[in-house]
Amino acid sequence: MTAAPIRHLVVVLGDQLDQHAAGLDGFDPKKDRIWMAEVKHESTHVPSSKQRIALFLSAMRHFAEELQARSWPIDYIRLNQPKNTASLGGELKRAIQTHRPAQLIMTAPGDWRVLKELQEAAQSCKIPLEIREDRHFFSTVRDFAQHARSRKQLRLEYWYRELREKTGILMQDGKPAGGQWNFDQDNRGAFGKEGPGVVRKPLRFKPDAITSEVIQLVSTEFADHPGSLADSIDGFGWPVNRKQALQALDDFIKHRLALFGAYQDAMWTGEPWLYHAHIASALNLKLLSAQEVVSAAEEAYKKKLAPLAAVEGFIRQILGWREYVRGIYWMNMPDYLERNMLAASQPLPDFFWTGETEMTCLRESIQQTLRTGYAHHIQRLMVTGLYSLLAGIHPKAIHEWYLSVYVDAVEWVELPNVLGMSQYADGGVMASKPYAASGKYIDRMSNYCKGCRFDPAKSTGKDACPITTLYWDFLMRHEALLAKNPRMVMQIRNLNRLSAADRKAIRVRASQLGVS
Ligand code: FAD
Ligand code: SF4
Repeated sequence: MTAAPIRHLVVVLGDQLDQHAAGLDGFDPKKDRIWMAEVKHESTHVPSSKQRIALFLSAMRHFAEELQARSWPIDYIRLNQPKNTASLGGELKRAIQTHRPAQLIMTAPGDWRVLKELQEAAQSCKIPLEIREDRHFFSTVRDFAQHARSRKQLRLEYWYRELREKTGILMQDGKPAGGQWNFDQDNRGAFGKEGPGVVRKPLRFKPDAITSEVIQLVSTEFADHPGSLADSIDGFGWPVNRKQALQALDDFIKHRLALFGAYQDAMWTGEPWLYHAHIASALNLKLLSAQEVVSAAEEAYKKKLAPLAAVEGFIRQILGWREYVRGIYWMNMPDYLERNMLAASQPLPDFFWTGETEMTCLRESIQQTLRTGYAHHIQRLMVTGLYSLLAGIHPKAIHEWYLSVYVDAVEWVELPNVLGMSQYADGGVMASKPYAASGKYIDRMSNYCKGCRFDPAKSTGKDACPITTLYWDFLMRHEALLAKNPRMVMQIRNLNRLSAADRKAIRVRASQLGVS
């Protein structure tokens, strides 16, 4: 007996794990079939960390199991399955040849590279591919393009206000709750000498049978990939299904949201988690929707469980930044990937893959990253990102590192944050000025410098902080360009106070650090 022809083959990618995604609208198990594939290329086009691969594979397998529990027909290609061609395009072509569906359907992929690969597969098999809107966002890519069209310069604040007005989130009688749009000034606290005290551990999830099997697979198949899975302190504990993702969200809202705002930028040795949400991976895999996360935070404010400054600060990250970077990504790809405004050309230092460096801030942030697949925003922006900017590391090299190591790394959100926000490689599309600072910033926001052999106040001499030396050297190297930026006036004025001898000594020290 020949099987009935398939009407729709519905493509579900590893970061589209939502039963209510648009691609599954109208799914008829009698006529349609779902297709999911684990392929090696997705973990090797940049060397994905073991934590990241384990998360993706485990979450995909859990999702496939949920679909099977509904008796929905699914082709689920495992990584080690014989004949696996190791690429999404190759596997999709194989599935098309097997099933000969009338049409392919999918929710819009997040990444340009994946979209192109799947479109090419469909075209080469001469089969129509319907791409549906990703409803996981408050805005569409077209909304952002429309917003951008009328502006010379993009700024998060205006986009964020537009979305607040459109959605009514944190609005009262047409005005922002609390009478102001933005409580950023209240969101820059440090812990002070005494540190954060005892920080409650976030909810982490013990690997079940599926995750344990995946961990085993990753440990053998990707043994030489960065990071670890078996750390005795943190291990692997990311939410891998919707139920766990909801529990992780609830844990944040109940136990950390109230302090999120105040300590959003603070860092402390041995404290990777602090008051952050740790839900970016669940959001990016679509185990959680942005709408439900924002609603949960707004509800906490209405019930007086968290102050407005904390709730606004948190909502701004999701309703504001997350939507903003997505818009920038799709408006500027594929050229965006090639931008290098500051002509940075240094290779990525080896210590990014080991954390073995005398610089305590970098050692702490990188080793924590390799151990857990996580670092919070300021560690990413003002430690690893700052060092790379000041040292003139090639934007593509640093982009690939970020895309490799974080569990929440997917290109549409990672690339604008790295290349635009942290490296200023897009020349100011994302950020109005480079996030350049000396070691004194890190000293103010953390206790890293206390345990470091370098002195953040010194720019020359053997105990000079490399970040401080490179900060001045960065300003000198790019003085002509930066002097034209009104937001750099103060920094350039301070640079102009340096004597010729100071400048020379800084240059000598910077070249000893390998920056030419
Ligand atoms: P929290 O600090 O608790 O913030 C809450 C949520 O807000 C996050 O879960 C995230 O969904 C969202 N958010 C916060 N800041 C941003 C931002 N700048 N852009 C988009 N969303 C934001 N985020 C990713 O999801 N994937 C990445 O690959 C990624 N790479 C980054 C690289 C650099 C250089 C920088 C500076 C930032 C990057 N971010 C990335 C943004 C941010 O650092 C992470 O979203 C955040 O650290 C994730 O941890 P969390 O869930 O505890 O976030
Ligand atoms: Fe980092 Fe410099 Fe502080 Fe050392 S002194 S922790 S290198 S900022």
